Amino acid sequence: MEITAIQCPKCGGDINYKAGDRTVKCPYCDLMLEIKAEPAEIELEKTKKEYRDIEQFRQEYAKKTKRWKRRTYIYYAAAFLLTIATFLLVTFSKNHSGGYEAGKGMFLLLCFSFLAVPLIFTQMVPVAPKEVEEQLRIKSGFLCAVKIAGMALLISLAGALIFFLIFNALGR
Ligand SMILES: [Zn+2]
Repeated sequence: MEITAIQCPKCGGDINYKAGDRTVKCPYCDLMLEIKAEPAEIELEKTKKEYRDIEQFRQEYAKKTKRWKRRTYIYYAAAFLLTIATFLLVTFSKNHSGGYEAGKGMFLLLCFSFLAVPLIFTQMVPVAPKEVEEQLRIKSGFLCAVKIAGMALLISLAGALIFFLIFNALGR
C-alpha cells in the first residue's frame, strides 16, 4: 500500500494517508482534510467504468442474441416434426381421406413457413449497441432470412430422409 505524507495546513504536523483514502484526520489537531484524487487515478477510474459499461452492453446483447437463436432452433425443430407428421399422415391414410387432406394442408403450411418465418426472424434480430464489435453482431436482412430458410429446408429434408429410412427399414 502506497503511503503519502502531507503537512497539516493548520498545525504543520505530518499526516500520512493511503492511496484511495478520500478523507484524512490530522493526528495532532484533528483537522479533517479531503484528499483530492490524483488526475491519473481519476482517469483510471473513468476508464474502468467505461470498460464495465461496454462489458455490460456486450453481455446484454449476447443475452438477447442467445434468446433469438434459441427461437430459431425451436422453429427448426418444429419444421422437422411437421415434416415427419406430414409424411406420416400422407403415407398412412388413403387418398382423399381426412388424414390425407390434413397431411396436404400441413405440407402447404410447412412450405409457407419457409417463406414467412425467416422474414419474421430477421425483423426480430436484436439491435446491437455501438459498443458491440462488428464480427459479434447478427446482421438482419435478406441474407439472414435466406440462411434461416435454407437451414429450415435442410432440416426438413433430413426429417423426410429419416422418415423414409425408417419406413423402408420396417419393410413395408
Ligand atoms: Zn494538524
